[in-house]
Amino acid sequence: MDMSSPKSRQELEAELACLRSRLHEYEARHAVDLETGEAFLRTLSGIDHCQERLKAQDSALCEAQHGLQIALRRYTNLFNHSPIGYFLIDAKGFLREANRLGAELLKTLPESLIGKPFVSFLEPEARPAFELHLQNVVAGNSSQIELVLNPTGGVSMPIILQTSLMEGEEESVFGPLCLAAALDIQSRKEAEQALAERTEQLARSNEDLERFAYVISHDLQEPLRNIGNYVQMLARRYKGRLDEDADIFIGFVTEGVARLSNMIRDLLSFSRIGTQTQKLERIDSGEALKDALANLEAAANEAGAEIHIEAMPPVLADRAQLVSLFQNLLGNALKYRHPQRKPQIRISAKAVGKQWLFTVSDNGIGIESRQFERLFTLFQRIDPHGNIPGSGIGLAVCKRIVERHGGAIWVESTAGQGSTFHFTLEASP
Ligand code: ADP
Repeated sequence: MDMSSPKSRQELEAELACLRSRLHEYEARHAVDLETGEAFLRTLSGIDHCQERLKAQDSALCEAQHGLQIALRRYTNLFNHSPIGYFLIDAKGFLREANRLGAELLKTLPESLIGKPFVSFLEPEARPAFELHLQNVVAGNSSQIELVLNPTGGVSMPIILQTSLMEGEEESVFGPLCLAAALDIQSRKEAEQALAERTEQLARSNEDLERFAYVISHDLQEPLRNIGNYVQMLARRYKGRLDEDADIFIGFVTEGVARLSNMIRDLLSFSRIGTQTQKLERIDSGEALKDALANLEAAANEAGAEIHIEAMPPVLADRAQLVSLFQNLLGNALKYRHPQRKPQIRISAKAVGKQWLFTVSDNGIGIESRQFERLFTLFQRIDPHGNIPGSGIGLAVCKRIVERHGGAIWVESTAGQGSTFHFTLEASP
């Protein structure tokens, strides 16, 4: 208990004022503390938010890195297991990378060829060509070249190198990089060589056969002519004087000699296509057609044929052979006419690319499609025992002539309705 004297009013008021100001001070400090606390809490939640975002970014980055690793592994596998040799070569011609096959072609390991000049793996004669090739590629042109590798100075190996500038590598430490793909063409070269040798052999044996056929058919004509003459003599002198059978036999021999003589004549003309040829020159195919028609005039008149000719172009051909080609096709159109209608023959030509496509069509007896292939083979007739004469050489002659002129011949037909023969010839320049 305060035993001191009671405080004066003044003292009490001063004490009260003091207490009030302390209370204000306390209130003010409390407000500041409250604000600081809130700000602190806000900062804390901001930090949490940032942390979440960072976590999300981190997992996206991890995923991207994983994807990149897969892509890199895939690229490395593809690069190393490619059946084509790949080289990265800088603008100065130094090797910067190679895949397994590329290194194998250079008879070394991928890591040992880095920094070596590519030309050092080539045959000396191939080096200038490669340098030009590289300059061309560095200038921005993709380019292909055949080169000969000889990394060990031993057996050389031909390759094709396809090189182009790599995009997006301009800034690399080595400057622009070129990607060269190398393909080993050793087996292709060997096959080409074997094919060339075989073709030459075939051409030689073909020539021999042609000469043989020519000589045989030429030399057979003389004894055959003698047989024919003597049989005719026999027929003249002894017809009716021997028995009946003898006359029939002499008739068979005469017929046989005539048939054989026609076959030999046709065979001779077939073999002449290869041996006695004129060089190809610009000729008017219409003129050749006119000559062929003149040779067939009697047969055409006798059959009452209607022949329609469209505009004929100039071509590059051997004139005599072109006449023979038209004559064979038109002769067949007359020969194989339908017994119940007059032959109608149409000859036309149209340009197809650098060639002319000729068409000879008729309304004759036609041909079954299964026979199309064999028609153009020597001595192949559809009805060898029928009553239309022939030796089965005409279309083989046509094929040979057309092929010698660089063209092709084929037939379209419907049995009973007619046939259309097509052939192509080079247009005259
Ligand atoms: P050939 O007329 O001497 O028999 P070809 O080689 O000229 O020999 O013709 C072969 C075969 O093709 C002929 O036997 C004939 O059956 C058939 N042929 C050719 N041209 C025609 C045609 N225009 N119409 C129908 N058949 C044809």
